[in-house]
Amino acid sequence: MDHLTPEKRSWNMSRIRGRDTRPEVLVRSMLHRAGYRFRKNVSTLPGKPDIVLPKYKTVIFVHGCFWHRHKGCKDATTPKSNKAFWKKKFERNTANDRKHARELRKLGWKVITVWSCQLKKPDAALRRLEREFPADERR
Ligand SMILES: [Zn+2]
Repeated sequence: MDHLTPEKRSWNMSRIRGRDTRPEVLVRSMLHRAGYRFRKNVSTLPGKPDIVLPKYKTVIFVHGCFWHRHKGCKDATTPKSNKAFWKKKFERNTANDRKHARELRKLGWKVITVWSCQLKKPDAALRRLEREFPADERR
């Protein structure tokens, strides 16, 4: 056993995983299958969006419901211990998310958030995404 608390360990794990976490991979492969062209982790844009569709001037963030506090979602639980730690952490995450979305919109990008819980129904998630793209310009 090591000295890390479970909270610290899962935090470290989330940092190590960083890119290409499963929900992101799922959204990318479903867009790819549907014929969309996109770029990933564009570091020159605010918040380094997970998926960028230049043709639609649209960026997609794939957010974990727990870390990014999906409102009203049952996956956005709050751990019972270390409450202050989590509160600070969550507040920082959501403040950053809002800031990045604001900056992106200012630059003329449409910002879409896909929540990880929505990926339990991938087909519905794809249809929801496609509704955001102008129909006459698809693919
Ligand atoms: Zn959720």
